[in-house]
Amino acid sequence: GFCPLTGIYKSRWNSPSLPQTPLLSLPSFLLSSLPPPTLRKPAYIDSISGDSISYGELRSLTNVVACTLHSLGVKKGDVVLIVSPNFLHFPLLVLGVMAIGAIFSTANFLHTRLELETQIQDSNPAIIFTTQELEPKLDGLIARPLIIVEQFIDEVVHCGEPHNGELLLANVTISQGDTAALMYSSGTTGMSKAVVCSHHNLIAMSCLLSHVWNANGTGVCNDIYMCVVPLFHMFGLSMFVCGVLAVRSTTVILRKYSLEEMLIGIEEYGVTRLPAVPPMVIQLVKSHDKTKEYELGSLKEVICSGASIGKEHMEQFSKCYPHVKISQCYGLTETNGPITLCNGINGRFQVSIGRLVPSMEAKIVDVRTQKPLPPLKCGELCVRGPPVMQGYFKNQEATSHAIDREGWLQTGDLCFIDTYGLVYIVDRIKELIKYKGYQVAPAELEEILATHPEIHDAAVIPYVDEEAGEIPMACVVKREASNVKEEDIITFMASKVAPYKKVRKVVFVNIIPRSPSGKILRRQLKALGTHQKMEI
Ligand code: AMP
Repeated sequence: GFCPLTGIYKSRWNSPSLPQTPLLSLPSFLLSSLPPPTLRKPAYIDSISGDSISYGELRSLTNVVACTLHSLGVKKGDVVLIVSPNFLHFPLLVLGVMAIGAIFSTANFLHTRLELETQIQDSNPAIIFTTQELEPKLDGLIARPLIIVEQFIDEVVHCGEPHNGELLLANVTISQGDTAALMYSSGTTGMSKAVVCSHHNLIAMSCLLSHVWNANGTGVCNDIYMCVVPLFHMFGLSMFVCGVLAVRSTTVILRKYSLEEMLIGIEEYGVTRLPAVPPMVIQLVKSHDKTKEYELGSLKEVICSGASIGKEHMEQFSKCYPHVKISQCYGLTETNGPITLCNGINGRFQVSIGRLVPSMEAKIVDVRTQKPLPPLKCGELCVRGPPVMQGYFKNQEATSHAIDREGWLQTGDLCFIDTYGLVYIVDRIKELIKYKGYQVAPAELEEILATHPEIHDAAVIPYVDEEAGEIPMACVVKREASNVKEEDIITFMASKVAPYKKVRKVVFVNIIPRSPSGKILRRQLKALGTHQKMEI
């Protein structure tokens, strides 16, 4: 529904009722009232070992983890950081931390030691969970207890006292407005910042995903999901903790993405729905011959998100896998997960990112005037609704830049909405670069480039790449008489940043175009980047 007077689009789905109790945490909401048949149903399965956690176990173990953290001195409001790839008990740690009112935070485990240090200084965690393999990267970095997850699972989860029924920590009161998680995103500009997610935001995300996925209203879905995207990213967290638990489905967790392991898992567990990022969809197309060796008949839908995917890839996917629906969803860390979905929308090729999820409102505004635009006109997408973040952690300036007084979040994405309420992404206005769905903040790379002795000035912009979607490209002004080469800069940057943030292409320019206030004019650089010769 579009209102021509206000320029506001409302979701076409009716709004689910959100729980009104002020004292409610995400774990209580998801696990308190489990219908008896669900108790034995697996919530999570480790794709490779076959180990699983049932809904009943998940609830009692959430108590065990919460009580253990409590005995370790973790208090309400403390941050608990996890630095790890996916593993079976990852969601359990999320729920255990939130169940005592502590704040769950993640970091990409591919980060360098320095990158981790920067984030740790910002979020100031009371304790850190990591794996045996990653321990050396974190060891001695800060004076915080480091808990090795493998040992923790052995000692606490496998040997701990069982707890049943209601969540036991009655002495901690958690309000929906309390912070549940800090998830990092660079937003529309600048460095990576912590997004403050409340219990209310995540409960709302759970309600609206369950409302959409569970349109027949039975409260339980028999879908089997596969988690190949990282749980440290909001896409993974919202889908596989909020959404899947809310509809009492099962998630098969893959520790690390590999095409072969994914296919084995789909075949073995009869996976029906697969949330994925564009490079995975492209790989499924390119490896179609190989995938014929696997029985993938159970797969009903691949849901692609995280970055744009070309129409041609969607079409090729449909040709290769005619029994599988390919659709998109779209969201930001700042919206705590998907805010548009293609659920229930038919059509052979979905170039749209879908319709607004229930309770969500949108506006398309003129980039210059900020005035709302009518259907089919292209402008910046702004959204408002219960899953929108509280703001950036300890950063009022960035918060008021992102969310206006009426609660509209600027997405930084250039979109239009058609007369059927379908949303289409045309381009990205914000600085952000998406390498295989991972966030790369140009400001961060520019700061490092500026430390190179032979670089006078530099800017980083996205460069279109078939496999990765985008790669970071540095536009560099050399110092006078410098003979620095593209390879030198690529090697220099590779030694400083996580692999997915590497500068993979360099062009030399005479000047970096800037506005009078000193802001890099990225549009101008991008426009030039599409030409062969980058002389300004
Ligand atoms: P993140 O906070 O890492 O989830 O990044 C959010 C950004 O990813 C969005 O603002 C979009 O620019 C991009 N994005 C997410 N989903 C899609 C999609 N389906 N199509 C195009 N871009 C997307």
